Amino acid sequence: MKQDFYVVLGVQRDASEADIKKAYRKLAMECHPDRNNGDKASEEKFKLVTEAYEVLRDPEKRAAYDRFGHQGARTTSGFGSMHFDLSEALMVFMRDFGLAGGREGGGGFGGFETLFGGGQLRDRRRGHDIKVGLKLTLAEVASGTTKTVRIKSLESCPECAGTGGKPGSQPVQCGTCGGSGEVRRQANSLFGQFLTVSPCPTCAGEGTVIRSPCDRCGGDGRVKSEKTIQIDVPAGVADHHYLTMRGQGVPGPRNGPRGDLIAVLDIKEDPRFERHGDDIVYDLGITFSQAALGAELQVPTPYGQATLRVESGTQTGMAYRLRSKGLPRLGEGGYGDLHVRIHVWTPTKLTAEQRTLLEELSEVEDAPPEKESGKVWDTIRRALGDL
Ligand SMILES: [Zn+2]
Ligand SMILES: [Zn+2]
Repeated sequence: MKQDFYVVLGVQRDASEADIKKAYRKLAMECHPDRNNGDKASEEKFKLVTEAYEVLRDPEKRAAYDRFGHQGARTTSGFGSMHFDLSEALMVFMRDFGLAGGREGGGGFGGFETLFGGGQLRDRRRGHDIKVGLKLTLAEVASGTTKTVRIKSLESCPECAGTGGKPGSQPVQCGTCGGSGEVRRQANSLFGQFLTVSPCPTCAGEGTVIRSPCDRCGGDGRVKSEKTIQIDVPAGVADHHYLTMRGQGVPGPRNGPRGDLIAVLDIKEDPRFERHGDDIVYDLGITFSQAALGAELQVPTPYGQATLRVESGTQTGMAYRLRSKGLPRLGEGGYGDLHVRIHVWTPTKLTAEQRTLLEELSEVEDAPPEKESGKVWDTIRRALGDL
């Protein structure tokens, strides 16, 4: 036996739309999977409160639920079986509250708030946006890549071709709004009368209602689907950039316009490099004698190995610049640079032979000049554009 949706949300039977929204937001924030480390009980609760919310926030579904209980909600609901899976529940939450885990700051999804514009009163028939995370390596950032992702979504119902009506039947004009999809109301304010226009609660702005719903999709015009999508990632992207593919999201009910697919990029740190925009820094250890005599050495780049000529007299902290061996400049063309930061390594264990040679060297070497180190750090700061 399913729990009563009013009890699930902890609201009175005559609760307003605003009360229902408020109650749901509070509960959903508490049991959102992002905040509960994938805890199963929280996930179940999140799905349940979302399901209750989807029914009670919608005047048409709520009226059906009030009259016929869960059975009534099922026939008018958007999701055939009326059991949400997690991705659907997350989409509902994102659509209306525009954030993934309700994490303010940190976490990185704060930016979705504006992206989804709060989700209210946009085209009611437009389908949800789908958000996917894309993990990339630095090599993929350097070269650009195509990623294949599998997503759960909804597709136009094949039975009714997305119309929501039984094959052969026609949608009929909505009696509440006379087909306009809007309800106009005169209101009085301090500044006089004005007209408010809102989407019709009976037909959700569509102007028509389905009298004999399709058996397959229950009148929604969509059925669950999974699909594979290829996402082209341009070279040079940065962490938490997102790519929007217009019209690749969930289709709207009854052949409504599709939402977008939004890929949020998550770039794995490459332990070899420090990234500063398009420039990258690599730390190279060299020996005492390489520093003193000069040497030709191999250094890694995102494009494979490159040869670096270390001059004789190289000091710790000096930086060599390999032009255009950094990351591609997104949208500008060209490449950043790879800066190789030198560390002269002092041996910690000496063989007898090494000790003898160094002792000989110590007899003849000069003392280092004063105030040399300050200059070295100036060089590197200049090289990296004052980091
Ligand atoms: Zn159908
Ligand atoms: Zn209407």
